Amino acid sequence: MEYLYLLATLLFVFGIKRLTSIRTCSQGNRLSELGMLVAIIAALLISDSINWTVIIAGVVVGGGVGLFLAKRTPTTKMPELVAALNGFGGVASALVAIGSVLTDSKLAEAGATISGLGVVPAIATPIAILIGMVTLTGSFVAYGKLSGKKLSHPFSGGARHAFHAVLGLGAIAIAAWMVTTESSGQLITAIILLSILAAVLGVFLVMPIGGADMPVVVSLLNSYSGIAGAFAGLVIQNPLLIVVGAMVGAAGLILTQIMCKAMNRSLSNVLLGGMGGDEAVAEDARDYKSIKQAGPEEIAMVLDGAASVIFVPGYGLAVAQAQHVVRELADLLIARDVNVRFAIHPVAGRMPGHMNVLLAESDVPYDLLWEMERINGDFKNTDVAIIVGANDVVNPAAREPTGPIAGMPILDVDHARTVVVIKRSLSPGYAGIKNPLFDNDNTLMVFSDAKEALEGMVREVKDL
Ligand code: NDP
Repeated sequence: MEYLYLLATLLFVFGIKRLTSIRTCSQGNRLSELGMLVAIIAALLISDSINWTVIIAGVVVGGGVGLFLAKRTPTTKMPELVAALNGFGGVASALVAIGSVLTDSKLAEAGATISGLGVVPAIATPIAILIGMVTLTGSFVAYGKLSGKKLSHPFSGGARHAFHAVLGLGAIAIAAWMVTTESSGQLITAIILLSILAAVLGVFLVMPIGGADMPVVVSLLNSYSGIAGAFAGLVIQNPLLIVVGAMVGAAGLILTQIMCKAMNRSLSNVLLGGMGGDEAVAEDARDYKSIKQAGPEEIAMVLDGAASVIFVPGYGLAVAQAQHVVRELADLLIARDVNVRFAIHPVAGRMPGHMNVLLAESDVPYDLLWEMERINGDFKNTDVAIIVGANDVVNPAAREPTGPIAGMPILDVDHARTVVVIKRSLSPGYAGIKNPLFDNDNTLMVFSDAKEALEGMVREVKDL
């Protein structure tokens, strides 16, 4: 059976590897799904006592809920779904650790303690419960924030950190009691208390972090769910769970790191509060001097003379569900021999890969999607850059030495000959600051819902 575990592990490793490129990512998903199927079959074959009714009910109910959510969730709500799934992953690991302790026949003997079972269960059991429950509730607070709920922490500054420290120390004390108690009644009480305290800690840890930073938090919680899984694997001594949990933990941490780098911020700055997005909007955020407005007809005329066009999708594209119509416009331009590409900023939208998911949904060919580093040098040779509901990721204010997004790598759209910005108003983006791009001589603003504006452009380009 070890061979099946090895096969599943390899499928996961190659699956994750394939996820690193847009071209191969759907194959990566398939490999990982296959890995999961092999892992489940191996786990079922290894067990000597299986309650098939429970297993089948679990597969039907769990699979049904998963299918329902996946089919029903629009791409705009994808970040929330990812957050929720992390939470379920965390609580599953906590439950595995709890179930293992409660059914361990050695612990039923008089005078037995978890620490008496060895160093590994003594350390791994409380950690799996603690991290798993923090992940559960932290993820649901992140879910709420991603869906626009305002949740504020009752304490601020030093008092907040002190409050978190008290909760953390309380959890450690209960964990110590849990692994040393000889009484089964006390063991159950300690498990319940530790679970509750960890759940409370998860809520308060995520509560003060700004809504704009939730994608970073979600990716960190994804890493936590992996770590909890690895510790649950140590508790039940399942090598596959240990390896896969560690892989998810490491991948989540690397992704968190990549996103922090793309925003030019440290993880501690994100976790302890920085550019929040829930609150501050700069006073001069709507203070523009020379806005040039245009409609679909003028833009079609600009496009008529263009040999190269770069689309820059942002969060507004997701909100407007404009992924299909943007593709339609791109197809029309390609048919007119225009060199069309899409520039993807690593943190455009509200979750890593948000724009890739959207554009893949409308079957935009992978070779038209260019990453920021690869395309940035080309804007200066591009006739038209069309920004569809993006703001912070194209804000030249990031090149200033100070300010909320100072140092954040941006797409150099202002280097294009003409810049078209589609958005509904002069409202700022998530960072809440003015975007000097809108005032530039070569910028045309199209104030409209992204889908309506692009539909108008499609009509006008067809009439050219
Ligand atoms: P922004 O939030 O900066 O801007 C989106 C713009 O879209 C808004 O200015 C809004 O303007 C416009 N918009 C909203 N709805 C519509 C619509 N229906 N039609 C047309 N326009 C619309 O998004 P970006 O993608 O540029 O930047 C992402 C932000 O999220 C960055 O601050 C980034 O740091 C942050 N972030 C992203 C992470 C990630 O992993 N993706 C991680 C952490 C943070 P208006 O209201 O005028 O229409």
